[in-house]
Amino acid sequence: MRKDTIAAIATAMSDSGISIIRVSGEDAIPIVNRIFFTKGHKQILSEAESHTIHYGFIYDGEYKIDEVMVSVMKAPRSFTTEDVVEINCHGGVLVTNKVLETVIKNGARIADPGEFTMRAFLNGRIDLSKAEAIMDLIHAKSEYALKNSMNQLSGSVANIIKNLREQLIYEIAFIESALDDPEHISLEGYEDKLSKVNDGLLFEIDKLIESAHDGMLLKEGINTVIVGKPNVGKSSFLNALIGKERAIVTDIEGTTRDALMETVKIKDILLNIIDTAGIRETEDIVEQIGVNKAKEYVKDADLLIYIVDSSKELDQNDFDIMEMLYQRKSIILLNKNDLETKIDEISIAQYLKDIYSKNNGTYNNEIPIIKTSMLNKEGMDLFEKIVMDLFFSGQLKINDEVYITNMRHKEALMEAASSLRLVRQSLENHMPEDFYSIDLMNAYTSLGYILGEELGDDLVQEIFSKFCMGK
Ligand code: GDP
Repeated sequence: MRKDTIAAIATAMSDSGISIIRVSGEDAIPIVNRIFFTKGHKQILSEAESHTIHYGFIYDGEYKIDEVMVSVMKAPRSFTTEDVVEINCHGGVLVTNKVLETVIKNGARIADPGEFTMRAFLNGRIDLSKAEAIMDLIHAKSEYALKNSMNQLSGSVANIIKNLREQLIYEIAFIESALDDPEHISLEGYEDKLSKVNDGLLFEIDKLIESAHDGMLLKEGINTVIVGKPNVGKSSFLNALIGKERAIVTDIEGTTRDALMETVKIKDILLNIIDTAGIRETEDIVEQIGVNKAKEYVKDADLLIYIVDSSKELDQNDFDIMEMLYQRKSIILLNKNDLETKIDEISIAQYLKDIYSKNNGTYNNEIPIIKTSMLNKEGMDLFEKIVMDLFFSGQLKINDEVYITNMRHKEALMEAASSLRLVRQSLENHMPEDFYSIDLMNAYTSLGYILGEELGDDLVQEIFSKFCMGK
């Protein structure tokens, strides 16, 4: 563990009212003391009490750089658990950099991204899941993401994991003691007991793994692709969602040639929407590139929105697009409902039925079909409700439900679950007890990764390197 003193700008690098330069480490106080003077030109920081704030000036030699407020937080009562000094200076980019430079000149080193939080973790102040929650909180793009990361920061995930690990270590210890001291501790009937505990643990872990699906969607947004032939109203739909004229709307077919990506928020759910070039057979090479790209985006999407111009008959292009909806989360919009319509829900459903049965599936009306008019802004409320129904069964219980939102956590949970499945297998096959304890221990270790225990230094470094500068 590096003990040197680090410094970084903790606020955003743009002109603003105030910037904060954070300094942490054994020499944080002496370093800032060298450059900070009160109005009466006194150096007072080395005598300052913890958790106090002081008014004065930062000097680089004779040169007065800025008028500042400096706060002192002594170890261990600070974010990093080390001595921390924070300099609040004026928020200009130049002046902030000058203050940082002076701190560096006087003995601190520029912090790596996330190094303050890494120190908080390595010094035992927070576990890794909480450190990651801090980053999620900073990057939260929706209210739900914010609430969820705050819950995780308060320990929602960490507490569950700790509890699971406690149960595991209890069983491991019991088996080990019984094997060591068979005269006093009997394993008679233990298989049944362990089997119940093991099933209980697996159930909880599987529930957490399942929550990751919604959790990721909440955090990152639902990757949505709008498909449909040219001129059916795809851009108009996107604009209606965004509420501003961003996508180009024209009467000439094939104008949305490449894809356009927008993140929109509906009922606090993020949709990362890609408006594709209209999908149709085309001779135009540029348009063809767009069409191919659209087909690629479709492959990775969580949700497909297929827009149809209901004032026109369907053609082969529509059937080709409907093929793409097979067994995919999709919503069909019968747009231009304000005009005289040529197609309706029933005819579309019939085509879907044919497509499903051609693929040996049965279509049970799982694809919602709604009538919309972008001209009159009709159908948008229903669309939003349907998205909620499709993804979160209509409601999100963010306050009492724990969501896994981190891929790393999900992978660790999956490892733990597969170890516990091996325990189940060994139990079914009445294997010797040490078989159980090996797999129980593996599950214990995997869950430890979430809290940052049992992780190698290089992995820890890698995780923190993705954090922001100054955090
Ligand atoms: P895209 O090519 O699928 O992106 O279609 P656009 O959004 O560019 O729309 C094509 C044309 O259809 C434009 O002239 C729109 O104003 C018009 N349009 C879009 N939605 C509606 C609608 O619901 N009703 C009517 N009457 N016209 C629409």
